[in-house]
Amino acid sequence: MLSKLFFNQTLTIKIIQNRQIMQHINKNSYKNIYFDLDRTLWDFQSNSEQTLSELLEKYAPELMPRIVEFLKIYHQVNEVLWIKYREGELSKELLRTQRFIDTFTAMEFPCNGICEAMSIDYITESPLKTGLFPYSLEILEYLKQKGYRLFLITNGFSEVQDVKIKYSGLEPFFEKMITSEEAGYQKPHRKIFEYALKTVNARKNESIMIGDDLENDIFGAQRIGMDTVFFNPLKISHRQNTTFEIASLIDLKYIL
Ligand SMILES: [Mg+2]
Repeated sequence: MLSKLFFNQTLTIKIIQNRQIMQHINKNSYKNIYFDLDRTLWDFQSNSEQTLSELLEKYAPELMPRIVEFLKIYHQVNEVLWIKYREGELSKELLRTQRFIDTFTAMEFPCNGICEAMSIDYITESPLKTGLFPYSLEILEYLKQKGYRLFLITNGFSEVQDVKIKYSGLEPFFEKMITSEEAGYQKPHRKIFEYALKTVNARKNESIMIGDDLENDIFGAQRIGMDTVFFNPLKISHRQNTTFEIASLIDLKYIL
């Protein structure tokens, strides 16, 4: 039954094929595993949406019937502003408030101090949420027991990411979390990956990067010659070359 399940899934076939190749050429060569945090282990989407709906209920309950629209606009706006932040066109502080201002403006609802308050509450409340992707803790336990050194590389803000890993129970598994604020560069810049290796005395040919973002995690790590695992739970189609690809974190057992 197990094998039937595997062979019904293209992704798993790819993993098995790659695994066979890997076992042939460099079995057990990895020592250091770098995980992305948001949308790879920490379920950013569900944690964020839970927080936003609680805040809307608190500050603008009359908009609750339009919650689906609110979330959709917020995500679109946030994505645009994050690009500007990444390109240095927007400060962290402005990004945090502007995403609410733009969302309310698009919904033609007066902000009147709500945006400021929601922005502050969101930063405090959202990292306290504990939703993780299925098998996160199981796979980290497995990898830890196998003796791998585990690290996080994240573009999020240090003070926010610290809270997330503490509350969600991820912290004990990781030797270090490298944030873009600490490294001075954002993924996919090669310097954050070089810093992540150097700061913990890891070699790139003994290291592998696992993440959900083809540009930031996969392309970024590939730039410095690191192997990669693309975490693709929605099974989106793409043309990027990755060392491995998985749809569920538990599939890492076939690779590591
Ligand atoms: Mg991510």
